[in-house]
Amino acid sequence: MAKLVTELLQPPEHIPPGFASLSQGVFHASTILFPDVASFLRRQEQAGVGYSYGQNGTPTQYALAEKLAQLEGGGHTMLVPSGLAAITLVSSHVLSAGDHVLLPAAVYGPTLSVTRELFGKWGVRCSVYQHSGADIGQLFEPRTRLVWVESPASNLLEMQDVPAIVAAAHAHGALVAMDNTWATPLGFRPLAHGVDFSIQALTKYVGGHSDLLMGAVTVADPRRYQELRQTGELLGYYVPPDECFLALRGLQTLGLRLERHFASALAMARMLERQAAVATVHYPPLPSDPGHALWRRDFKLGSGLLSFTLRQPGLPAVEAFVAALRFFRLGNSWGAVHSLVAVAPLQKPREGWLIRLHIGLEDVDDLLEDVRQALAAVSP
Ligand SMILES: *Cc1c(COP(=O)(O)O)cnc(C)c1O
Repeated sequence: MAKLVTELLQPPEHIPPGFASLSQGVFHASTILFPDVASFLRRQEQAGVGYSYGQNGTPTQYALAEKLAQLEGGGHTMLVPSGLAAITLVSSHVLSAGDHVLLPAAVYGPTLSVTRELFGKWGVRCSVYQHSGADIGQLFEPRTRLVWVESPASNLLEMQDVPAIVAAAHAHGALVAMDNTWATPLGFRPLAHGVDFSIQALTKYVGGHSDLLMGAVTVADPRRYQELRQTGELLGYYVPPDECFLALRGLQTLGLRLERHFASALAMARMLERQAAVATVHYPPLPSDPGHALWRRDFKLGSGLLSFTLRQPGLPAVEAFVAALRFFRLGNSWGAVHSLVAVAPLQKPREGWLIRLHIGLEDVDDLLEDVRQALAAVSP
């Protein structure tokens, strides 16, 4: 059995007879043709295993879904138009009026918003749990159906104890969905840790070049996969084959890119924590990070996203730092080859500003020097 990164480089299996190429063909289709009336009338049985209508996928979408399931270590993958769509798909599939959901306090903002605002409107309630989820056992209610984990969580990169949360949720008859966008399955395998729904925003590391939006949900159970597909069809979810082609291309270099993002981000985190102008650094692979023990226990690899705060309070110092950067451009999203910076206000009780860096694939010495000279601009 070859290593996963080697497997990901193998040519796809959906190839028209008589043609061979290392590249996945891009098949566009809304109408799918059938040879006779009998097979046309049976087309619904084809959904999820064959071709019935363009919305259900062409060989291009199926090729990407298969590679992603391999990346997840098995199971079945459903593609959706964005990372956020993956989150709404799981909630739409699992939740009914009267149900209750648990989310980490530091969860990706839109996950909390969609749960509160959209599902809340339909009679779903939610509560947040703090930090690693050690207190989660007390938070279950009779109608708790779904627990979200996102480890490390957005912006502050707080780690959660995924196996402990999974054990507590399953003991209460709840399902667990994990947003694994930060680590990708190369760093952490949700399904192997008992998670029921493994989610990735492919927009980030799988796409890897800041030019596509897509999401994926992977489940171990084939019946649950069919039910998810039915929910996705009702929602009208569809992903374009050209975007799938780009994501397949991204997958070929995912292992190599992630190793480099990780090594450079660790060097950046180590440099940052030694700077007088820096107050705190958030990066679980860093030994001084409060989530380091959990990260070391459960994760195989880190990635390129970290955050920190300046000693100097207030927005002007943050503005001066960002303005002094040369190679970090200001913008949302992350996970691609380019270095990026973003800023976010911190909530109470830790008021102030958080600076988030995505460490790209530029030469690490240039990146370290760039951040060092920008910090000099705000040194007290
Ligand atoms: C970006 C992101 C998403 C959403 O992905 P989109 O494709 O932009 O909708 C979800 N979760 C996390 C952790 C993210 O960083």
